[in-house]
Amino acid sequence: MDIKTDQFQELSKKALTDGHLQQALQNLGAHIQAMRNSAFSLLDNPENLREQAHNIKRETLDRLDEYLEHLEKNVMRSGGQVHWARNASEARRLIETIALDKGVKTVVKGKSMVTEEIALNKGLIAHGIEVSETDLGEFIIQLAGEPPSHLIGPALHKTKEQIAELFSEKLGAKPMKDPQEMTTFARKALRQRFLEADMGITGVNFAVAETGSIVLFENEGNIRLSTTLPKIHVAVMGIEKVIPSLDNLDVFLKLLPRSATGQKLSSYISIITGPKRDGERDGAEEFHLVILDNGRSKILADEDLKETLCCIRCGACLDFCPVYLKIGGHSYGWVYSGPIGSILTPQLTNRKQAHQLPYASTLCGVCAEVCPVKINIPRILIALRQRYVEDSEWGKPNSVLEKGAVALYACTMRNRWLYEKVSRMARIVQIPFIKRGGLRNLPPPLNRWSRHHEVAPLEKTFRDQWRRFSKK
Ligand code: SF4
Repeated sequence: MDIKTDQFQELSKKALTDGHLQQALQNLGAHIQAMRNSAFSLLDNPENLREQAHNIKRETLDRLDEYLEHLEKNVMRSGGQVHWARNASEARRLIETIALDKGVKTVVKGKSMVTEEIALNKGLIAHGIEVSETDLGEFIIQLAGEPPSHLIGPALHKTKEQIAELFSEKLGAKPMKDPQEMTTFARKALRQRFLEADMGITGVNFAVAETGSIVLFENEGNIRLSTTLPKIHVAVMGIEKVIPSLDNLDVFLKLLPRSATGQKLSSYISIITGPKRDGERDGAEEFHLVILDNGRSKILADEDLKETLCCIRCGACLDFCPVYLKIGGHSYGWVYSGPIGSILTPQLTNRKQAHQLPYASTLCGVCAEVCPVKINIPRILIALRQRYVEDSEWGKPNSVLEKGAVALYACTMRNRWLYEKVSRMARIVQIPFIKRGGLRNLPPPLNRWSRHHEVAPLEKTFRDQWRRFSKK
């Protein structure tokens, strides 16, 4: 997928005027928030579970090298093969080589953000391999030639009318209105592809170091078909997906489906340990696990930012984010969107190009409140903003003038007497602007802010009003 993070402002403006998208986002917000909250209300002590999940992820990150070695050893012991990839191109090359060596002609894929991250489909297709996305949402956006717009619902930006049109244009379907009918149609279109596929490719929700197993959550059954029907199964994971033992899974079983889709449990949970053994009927004959770094070890080495790697890609922070719910996923310009995208993308891609993303937040904190692994996203957003204004390796540090303005602002906000004087002065300074038609066009550089906001004239300062009110 092309990286368009530098176009964040233009893409957001476009999204705000897209009626279909605005409707879809409004529906998503209302629906998924209620489902998530209701699923969490059934837990005895959700806070305790979130705390446990956070601790498991943090402690695993602290000994990540050990757990990854342990995982490798146990995958190999169960008959699987492990491949390490330093970056996206290495991962693509590895998977392409496996496919070409085995004469693979067709691939079925389960939904996987990490394969989007490494742009795997493009590489395979360039070698003449036919790739079919089998998750319904991914199937739709593959037909449309678009990137996913949400971690869990990749096609949620599309209305059912748009999907019906797409099916009829690309697959010759008759006009359809009923989503059930469309799902049945997609299911039939995919069934033959599963039966004919030479290779199945999936992501990994969790990789268990203790047993060498991978764990996959899904609702459609397509992942189970992708991992059992083709002879070869390739699973791709970022280094942060490892957990120490199967016991740890209990916490994530309760948290991930609730956070992702508002379900108590996903419809299918597969735990796969190596290829099928002698006498077993189901399963791939070959199992390959590709473990990807692609910038993650740099994040791991940074104490301020390391917590980013606790993410389990549930999408809850997107579903509650007031910014995401207005501009949708494509505005963020890469695979990961919403609050997690705002902190992850600048760390995994060209940081200078992604400099607008940490500012795509009101810092309201709802993302941290709903995150099942308690990632303090607002803290990381602020840490990133700080890097952009102070560190030339990240961005263009503030000029002396900007630093002076910020110091003056901080000084005013800390000093009650000064704050009162400045507020009074502002009331006088605003008069000529009000006379000229309002505060919409404050002088530069303030007009960059004021032309997008309704700025009410300062009638009386809060303190004046408070004094008057207290006297009554
Ligand atoms: S940051 Fe938290 S809420 Fe957001 S996707 Fe990751 S785990 Fe889910």
